[in-house]
Amino acid sequence: MSESSEGGPPATGSLAGQTCLVTGASRGIGHGIAEDLGAHGAEVVVNYRSSRNEAESVVDAIESAGGAAIAAQTDVSVKAEVEAMRDRVHEAFGPVDVVVNNAGITVDKPFDEMTREDWDAVIDVNLGGVFNVTKTFYDDVCEAQDGRLINISSVVGQQGNYGQANYATTKAGLFGFTRTLALEMASTGSTANCIAPGFVATDMLDEVPKRVQEKILREIPLDRFATIEDVAPIVRFVASQESSYMTGQVLGVNGGMEW
Ligand code: NAP
Repeated sequence: MSESSEGGPPATGSLAGQTCLVTGASRGIGHGIAEDLGAHGAEVVVNYRSSRNEAESVVDAIESAGGAAIAAQTDVSVKAEVEAMRDRVHEAFGPVDVVVNNAGITVDKPFDEMTREDWDAVIDVNLGGVFNVTKTFYDDVCEAQDGRLINISSVVGQQGNYGQANYATTKAGLFGFTRTLALEMASTGSTANCIAPGFVATDMLDEVPKRVQEKILREIPLDRFATIEDVAPIVRFVASQESSYMTGQVLGVNGGMEW
């Protein structure tokens, strides 16, 4: 982990010298996480699947603020593409210290209408993508010694949610995955944790019908949806040296929702 320019202890929240891969960083929460990590000194890999212009804008914003970033087009559900991304990342920045598994999709339907294709599409990205990315960058994170695996889950993985049997299953699956990886990585000094946001104002939430949004809002004690800026600094904390003794945990960022 990094030291301050004076050679003393690292500044709080500093990620100087750290290479961070954020999957699904072209839009929404991943976009916010990537910019925030970049603003705090990290070299950032801005992964995306199809939103090329948006991903390049994220890179531009990080560079304009004095940071370093590259965009990496990769469908995380395709292992060969993830392995090719590793080669590009190593060429640009060397090994990755922090992996943020953020890319995720929804295909919402009540379970009686949900097809096996709907189920598989969400599992392939939200869990298959996590497998592919973690597997491919596992040695990097472990060899970083104080490396970080950060999985973006959801309060939906804790509560369930109408029309989201596939999505809730993937987000709950991340709890067991994270806990297990935390145990298996512990001897290396690297950590694995989950962030479980509540409902965050992004394109994903926009897809939820307004009447359902209103019902959800009534269940949030802080009486508002989360902003991306509510989530990104929590991810930064987990990515930083300050969280070194925290592993295998689920951090709820949900406005006080019960679960
Ligand atoms: P979003 O606005 O829909 O953005 C999704 C991002 O994931 C985009 O950058 C998209 O890239 C990328 N992506 C999707 N499929 C991909 C794939 N196969 N390979 C690579 N990238 C892929 O979603 P969000 O709301 O920011 O959600 C981000 C994460 O937070 C998800 O894991 C979600 O489950 C979780 N979360 C969201 C909320 C919420 O209320 N919004 C709450 C809790 C947890 P392209 O645009 O290039 O396709």
